[in-house]
Amino acid sequence: MAPAPAPASTPDPAATRAATPAPAPAFDYAPAPESRAVVDIAPSYGLFIDGEFTEAADGKVFKTVSPSTEEVLSEVAEAGEADVDRAVKAARRAFEKWSALPGAERAKYLFRIARIIQERSRELAVLETLDNGKPIRETRDADLPLVAAHFFYYAGWADKLDHAGYGPDPRPLGVAGQVIPWNFPLLMLAWKIAPALATGNTVVLKPAETTPLSALFFADICRRAGLPKGVVNIVTGDGRAGAALTAHPDVNKVAFTGSTAVGKQIARTVAGTRKKLTLELGGKGANIVFDDAPIDQAVEGIVNGIFFNQGQVCCAGSRLLVQESVHDELLDSLKRRLTTLRLGDPLDKNTDIGAINSAEQLARITALADQGEAEGAERWSPVCELPENGYWFAPTLFTNVTQAHTIARDEIFGPVLSVLTFRTPDEAVAKANNTPYGLSAGIWTEKGSRILAVANKLRAGVIWSNTFNKFDPTSPFGGYKESGFGREGGRHGLEAYLDV
Ligand code: NAP
Ligand code: MG
Repeated sequence: MAPAPAPASTPDPAATRAATPAPAPAFDYAPAPESRAVVDIAPSYGLFIDGEFTEAADGKVFKTVSPSTEEVLSEVAEAGEADVDRAVKAARRAFEKWSALPGAERAKYLFRIARIIQERSRELAVLETLDNGKPIRETRDADLPLVAAHFFYYAGWADKLDHAGYGPDPRPLGVAGQVIPWNFPLLMLAWKIAPALATGNTVVLKPAETTPLSALFFADICRRAGLPKGVVNIVTGDGRAGAALTAHPDVNKVAFTGSTAVGKQIARTVAGTRKKLTLELGGKGANIVFDDAPIDQAVEGIVNGIFFNQGQVCCAGSRLLVQESVHDELLDSLKRRLTTLRLGDPLDKNTDIGAINSAEQLARITALADQGEAEGAERWSPVCELPENGYWFAPTLFTNVTQAHTIARDEIFGPVLSVLTFRTPDEAVAKANNTPYGLSAGIWTEKGSRILAVANKLRAGVIWSNTFNKFDPTSPFGGYKESGFGREGGRHGLEAYLDV
């Protein structure tokens, strides 16, 4: 792996356990750092309730750090039950007027928010990279364009709800309590807030504890867009704030993205109430490569499938199912490709692999990868120096993986790929579906008929063919089985926020 211009580094014993040496680079990359100066992070932030930034009732705060350096970025108010209650009350007050606005009026605000996001996208990309650890190449080219696209898309629906297929004049639900994870902080916010506002609901959103900043910058964008007070409220804090929000009796709709364990807990909380619920949970996506697939393209898709966002993606292609006859050829190409990935400073525009989001997540990935090795799978990483500070994990492959291995069953949520083989299409389908999850899958083959036949048999909410991890606001996204229920995105995404 080519060393990216990164802070002083020491070799990590696990990461340098390499079988294939990195090829001598033809040329070296000069550092290409994005400027930190484009974003101005305040030393402290309050909760955003009823259009104002305010302290927590008990004055509690927590620190948010940059995972690539462990530098403290800011101190953020920690919401307690009383603050969540205040936010829900503000959202309830705002609901009456907001829901009564003509759709075309609500659309104006959403279009305005979308345009401000576009105008401030460089600043927001740098902010997200600092708070989350993901490479600027991804925040700049994937997260931010998708965030803006989501607001534009749902702005377009706001005055056309009569034609969305839910009958004339479909009604909003009321106050939406939304809880999101840290892997795509601003994008998950957009997936939640844009459809909720377009349909006339008001919102209380809790971002993840490790990535609160982009939601607070979004609060500022709402103010600048002139959004009426209380329509969007942001309560930063930890899981307890999330629990208080989802349990609040005056919330009409709960939307959650996160782990399956917490999703189940929320389902129990909401059971027996009149709250409407959508859950977007974990995954263990199969990326299936048939022997007629274009190998080079498949390698790019596999890399994108599991190393995009350091593999911290619910729909990651974390299980590679490769047809036995092309296994060796594919693995050789894949290993060669992995030696060219550049890990290091996420603000460097040449960086492919950034930092893991938190020390806890790194510990979890490390433990699962060690377990893979202990259970007998063969571990491989390119030669790769990890920066001294921050949370880092080298891209890792496991071969000789069986379906019984923990790394083939549990979601790792990190840059770790488990490689399994198959002989026939039926075997590929059986193995792909052999998981409690059902979020995503990929199919690589030249035969269109095979794509359709296999896709029909896969129990996954999203199936990509000859590509992976492609997102578009017009396309619904969501899971089967323990990956959750309900759809976000597209016309389908409106249903979750309408009383239909
Ligand atoms: P998590 O613990 O479930 O956290 C997700 C969010 O829920 C965070 O805001 C968290 O707050 C909050 N939370 C924690 N406990 C809660 C509770 N009892 N009640 C209500 N909210 C609570 O997930 P994570 O471990 O941070 O994130 C990784 C997991 O999320 C992975 O397993 C991944 O599969 C899943 N994920 C799924 C999708 C999807 O679209 N399906 C997308 C992204 C991630 P704190 O951050 O303060 O703990
Ligand atoms: Mg952070």
